[in-house]
Amino acid sequence: MQLQSELSTKNIFFLCFLFLFFITVKTTENSSSAIISRFQEYLRINTAQPNPSYYEAANFILSQAKSLSLESQTIEFVKNKPLILLKWPGKISKLPSVLLNSHTDVVPVESHKWVHHPFDAHIDSDGNIHARGTQDMKSVGMQYLEAIRKLKDSGFEPTRTVYLSFVPDEEIGGLDGAGKLAESEIFEKMNVAFVLDEGMPSPNENYRAYYAERSPMWLVIKATGAPGHGAKLYDNTAVENLLKSIESIRSFRASQLDMLKAGIKPEGEVISVNMVYLKAGTQTPNGFVMNLQPSEAEAGIDIRVPPTADQKSLEKRIAEEWAPAARNMTFEFKLKVPVVDKFGKPALTVADNSNPWWDLLEKAIHSAGGKLGKAEINIGTTDARYFRQRGLPAIGFSPIANTPLLLHDHNELLNQREYLKGIDIYASIIRAYASYAKETETIASRDEL
Ligand SMILES: [Zn+2]
Repeated sequence: MQLQSELSTKNIFFLCFLFLFFITVKTTENSSSAIISRFQEYLRINTAQPNPSYYEAANFILSQAKSLSLESQTIEFVKNKPLILLKWPGKISKLPSVLLNSHTDVVPVESHKWVHHPFDAHIDSDGNIHARGTQDMKSVGMQYLEAIRKLKDSGFEPTRTVYLSFVPDEEIGGLDGAGKLAESEIFEKMNVAFVLDEGMPSPNENYRAYYAERSPMWLVIKATGAPGHGAKLYDNTAVENLLKSIESIRSFRASQLDMLKAGIKPEGEVISVNMVYLKAGTQTPNGFVMNLQPSEAEAGIDIRVPPTADQKSLEKRIAEEWAPAARNMTFEFKLKVPVVDKFGKPALTVADNSNPWWDLLEKAIHSAGGKLGKAEINIGTTDARYFRQRGLPAIGFSPIANTPLLLHDHNELLNQREYLKGIDIYASIIRAYASYAKETETIASRDEL
């Protein structure tokens, strides 16, 4: 008896020790400093284009996935460009899934123009983390994972499967990353119902969410004309022909800018038209020939068209006014992304309460103490377009408020308080999405319950 009770006392002590040890490990894992240092670790991996350390980033993400007991898969649609796909299986596997997307690459840096080295992830006395990728978008990728860590620790189990994709190459167009994923058989099998992707930081307290983005049209117009002596005045020279086009392009541009300045339309809803290069003249090693009118002149124009605009009538305007054959002009598109999806519908996601994914997002943000501004059209492009092109609803959202917009800029930063708050926002969103099941879907999947 004596011996037995001694043993059980020892056992109790041992169990208590184990319990305390477990709690301590968990608390350490979940402490703010541990969360921040995991973020710093990801930021310190130099994934800047054009030579991103993709495998280092992949290994880091895989180690995080392992610590969270998530299923993982490394896919190389293109050699040396690993894409990491993680899966948190839902209780009802037949329910369509939710995809949380983020890209692993970042834009290049000019280190000498930064106050702190862009890959040191230095934290200043105000709690700002300085690094390339703090806003665009290593923050988001890590916040998804930290939110899942929180949900798992709270005992939450998803009803619907949640996937996370960490894709390469977004900063160079995304064709070899999200572009390939969206077209793949793997994606087909994932049965994705909704995609969450990156948004933009907000300088005030309202988070920003994007339901669409403008489609780029990179236009090159070329004019030809009779060459001639620089002293001769005559009609139909290449430069004159090009200048006439430039005049009408400029007046169109001014009309769009006026609407923007007058507040008639927000930036995402106007068609932006910007001349990016002009080329003419006959060159010599010492400069241009001054007494010769060239026979060719060309201009490059970056045009961005919102899905709410009529792309066809713009193309007509280009053919008839900006580069008319009657004025010896030709044009070509270096890039032309359609504003409609593969079903011919405008590539946008409904951003009101009639769309349950929007409704859930809005409510989840509010219940976590966040505020959401009016839904916007992103003025630039993101990977979300590849999913919208398939007809899938996708929202661009980064939980970054009260922060200056510094993505692609020097001294990109994010305050650690804002980062931590963003994790709670995502925990609320992921919980809502992963719990959501439409009645019809549940009935269809009842045999699994
Ligand atoms: Zn980005």
